[in-house]
Amino acid sequence: MKTYPYLIACEHCDTVYQRFAVTSGEVARCRRCSAVLYRGSLLDVDRWLALTVAAAIAFVITNVCPVIRISFHGLHNEATLWDATAALVHSSASPIAALVVFSIIIAPLLQIALLGWVLGFARAGRRAPGFSQVLRLLIKLRPWCMVEVCMLGTLVAVIKLSSVVQVLPGAGIWGMAVLMMLLGLIANRDMRWLWELTAQPHGNEVRG
Ligand SMILES: [Zn+2]
Repeated sequence: MKTYPYLIACEHCDTVYQRFAVTSGEVARCRRCSAVLYRGSLLDVDRWLALTVAAAIAFVITNVCPVIRISFHGLHNEATLWDATAALVHSSASPIAALVVFSIIIAPLLQIALLGWVLGFARAGRRAPGFSQVLRLLIKLRPWCMVEVCMLGTLVAVIKLSSVVQVLPGAGIWGMAVLMMLLGLIANRDMRWLWELTAQPHGNEVRG
C-alpha cells in the first residue's frame, strides 16, 4: 500500500491538498467548502503529556473520593462513583449499568492510558508500538466518553436532594470537573500533528 503523508483530503468534499506547516493556533481550511482541514496544535508534546498526567490524577480522585456527602437528622452518608454504579447494577436500571460504567469509567481510563502511551514515546521522538491503531482507537472512544453527562447528572441530583437533605459536594465531584475539562483539552483534539512529530526520516511511510 502506498501512502502520501504530504497530502490531505477534505473530509467533506474529498478535495486533496498538499500539506503545509501551520503555526500554533492557525487553522487550514478547505477552499471549496471551508471545512477545517487541520489545526496548529496549541500545546507541545511536553505540555500535552503533563495534562495527561494531571488527567490521570483527577481520574483517581474522581474514582476514589466521595462524590457527594449527605446528612439527614444527624445521620451521615457518602457515595463514590463506584457506589453509584454498584447501586445502578442492583436497581431496575441494571441493563444500562454496563453502558454507564463504560462511558464514565472505562472510556476515560482508556483515553488517558492510550494518550500516555503515544505521548511518552513521542517525547523521545519515536512512534509507540501500535501507534496508528492507538490513534484510531482514541478517535473511536471520543463519543463514548461521557464524563460531562455524569457531571451534569450529579449536579442535578445534588440540587434536587438539597431541598430534602443536607448535601455537600465531595472531592470526587471536583476531580470529575477537572477531569472533564482536561479530557476536553487533550482527548478531543486533532492529534494528526503526532504523525509529523514522529515521522520516520527515511520514508518508512511509503510501502509497497
Ligand atoms: Zn472541502
